[in-house]
Amino acid sequence: MKKKEPAYSSELSSMSSCEDGKCITEYFGEDTFNNKAMKLRLPKEVYRRFQEIIQKGKKFDLDTANSVAHAMKEWAIEKGATHYSHWFQPMTSSTAEKHDSFIEFTDDGDIIERFTGKQLVQGEPDASSFPSGGIRSTFEARGYTVWDPSSPAFIIKAGKGVTLCIPTVFLSYTGEALDNKAPLLRSIKVINDSSIKMLSLLGNKKARKVVSTLGTEQEYFLIDKDYFCQRTDIVLTTRTLLGSSPAKGQQLEDHYFGSIKERILSYMHELEEALYRLGYPAKTRHNEVAPSQYEIAPIFEEANIAVDHNQLLMEVMRKVAVRHGLVVLLHEKPFAGINGSGKHLNWSLSDDMGNNLLNPGKTPHDSIQFLVFLIATIRAVYQHADILRASVASSANDHRLGANEAPPAIISVFLGEQLTKILNDIESGAVTKATNEAIIDLGISNLPILSKDSTDRNRTSPFAFTGNKFEFRAVGSHQSVSFPATVLNTIVADSLDYLADKISSRGTDIKQAALDVIREEIKIIKPVLYMGDNYTREWELEAEKRGLPNKKNLPSSITDMVTEKTLKLFEKYGVLSQVEMKSRYHIRVERYCKKMDIEAMTLHSMLSNQILPAAVYYQKELAESIESTRRVLGNETDMTPQVMVLSELSGLTGKLVLFAKDILDKRNHAMTIPDHQAQAEYLCKEIRPAMENARTAADALEGIVDDNLWPIPKYWEMLFIC
Ligand code: ADP
Ligand code: MG
Repeated sequence: MKKKEPAYSSELSSMSSCEDGKCITEYFGEDTFNNKAMKLRLPKEVYRRFQEIIQKGKKFDLDTANSVAHAMKEWAIEKGATHYSHWFQPMTSSTAEKHDSFIEFTDDGDIIERFTGKQLVQGEPDASSFPSGGIRSTFEARGYTVWDPSSPAFIIKAGKGVTLCIPTVFLSYTGEALDNKAPLLRSIKVINDSSIKMLSLLGNKKARKVVSTLGTEQEYFLIDKDYFCQRTDIVLTTRTLLGSSPAKGQQLEDHYFGSIKERILSYMHELEEALYRLGYPAKTRHNEVAPSQYEIAPIFEEANIAVDHNQLLMEVMRKVAVRHGLVVLLHEKPFAGINGSGKHLNWSLSDDMGNNLLNPGKTPHDSIQFLVFLIATIRAVYQHADILRASVASSANDHRLGANEAPPAIISVFLGEQLTKILNDIESGAVTKATNEAIIDLGISNLPILSKDSTDRNRTSPFAFTGNKFEFRAVGSHQSVSFPATVLNTIVADSLDYLADKISSRGTDIKQAALDVIREEIKIIKPVLYMGDNYTREWELEAEKRGLPNKKNLPSSITDMVTEKTLKLFEKYGVLSQVEMKSRYHIRVERYCKKMDIEAMTLHSMLSNQILPAAVYYQKELAESIESTRRVLGNETDMTPQVMVLSELSGLTGKLVLFAKDILDKRNHAMTIPDHQAQAEYLCKEIRPAMENARTAADALEGIVDDNLWPIPKYWEMLFIC
């Protein structure tokens, strides 16, 4: 392939719009209709009512809605907005929007800009093309969107265009959730109710509300747009289906936390500016392990906002990259042979006074409370590892989980040395009485100072306690964190209720009852605790002995969404009805099949139209060169080495022709399997290896064929030239 200078030039880098000397606090959140903007624009009484509605989760009356809609419109128009959109999260990984302008005719035929409470509260996108998993057949396609007032409206700019975006849930006409936000909101209520019930049982009467908090560390790759445009696989599947590893990958370990290249830093800077304006609290940025891989992490927020913000982040990342001549790859495994990208989902619970319920306490009472919430979470993961694993299953994440660079598909919990010792002490009966002295002796009150040190060491665990929160590390980089967070909230709520019932049935000494229950539970949940290296074969064998599930791919894991146990649990808490859960299962299996099909067809066309022609051409060149050399130097000239190269080339080319055919045959067969689950299993078992075979041959050809003839950018170019 003819090497090209990437399109990037200093001109592009200077496009990065600096907020000329303004500090972040001056413009943070200015593109959102947040509390500050509302307070400024709404009549005092309306503002008060709005806050009350949010806090108590009441329904909006039309007067308040009209008033808020008017103020929101005025605010947006001052920012240059011409359109508004109900922004929602269909059951794909991305977001959807349909824009309407503010204009309306008056009775006199004049044009005015208007936005009513009714338009704010409810919308009707033509939603027939969004996946519903059978809930809504196309002839009754009308789903509707409903405003989520707990997440601030914001404006999105594109060139001169400015659009007001209103976060909404998306429901079918029969009231089923067609999106990712509605179940999340329901799970937020569920974890609140169960936490408050538990706190109250433990004697904590002050907390009136408990929220789950999320911090999402987002990994991503950046490559030059020029290379992107020349790679059909990245354009169509967002990952490379071909490409041999360059001599230099990540073995020198010089990229992680290395100094950030100027072009990348300039991108990050512009990205963060846009994010700050949208109220996204970007905090950390750094190079990741693989070349051209990076991470951005925010300050944690309440779950609903954090999820919206992560969706927004992924959108803004893509848009800003284009302005820098770059493309963001959010795929979980865009390049073979080097690390893939994940999204660590940091999760905790916080009361309305800002107390983190997973913060080891300073007093004996705090300690018991901490232990109860800790055990509830571990129990939840133990009991429901299957649905937690299924919540992060995707065709892309299949490449990552278990590939010795990310946590394996076995869900275990890491606690760190000190906490493990404390739980062992409780279990072994070293502490049996819940007196203040005994609890102080356990040493929980010493944990906060030392926790970072002892909990941060094991990076291989899929579910690690890191001082005052749990970190779920198996989440994929491109997926919405909404469903994993919904699952976590629900299963922990279930465990809290289970523990609360057990504790309250033990008489009046609640502290003693709690400690006794904790001791019993530790014995039961122990198999899920693992402190060793999760990447080893020994752990796989050990986990099997312990009876922990190890579902390595989507087809085997996804059925856990629709087991009796899972369906009943989510139905019991009203988070997802059986119909809603089943629809999600169907959508995800179908998407898996579609993605595998697209990958197979993309690879087949690249092999047929690009790789094989290049190989055949070079074969001809080599053959002709051997012949002409013999003509000049005489037939007896020893051309054995050259013939060996030609023979290898010809052998590989022949193999590749057959592998390409194999892919097509198997893909065509897969399309005849009517049942999606069976189709997914076939694709996983047959197409994946067929694609691997073809890749191995194509990558070997890449090592032989003249560089100038190679039709697609190579790994070293994409990963190191930027
Ligand atoms: P790491 O050591 O894994 O790189 P950090 O310790 O810097 O990460 O934190 C990772 C993320 O965890 C950040 O986004 C941070 O805001 C978030 N986080 C911290 N405390 C909480 C909490 N109580 N609840 C949820 N997320 C949290
Ligand atoms: Mg982390």
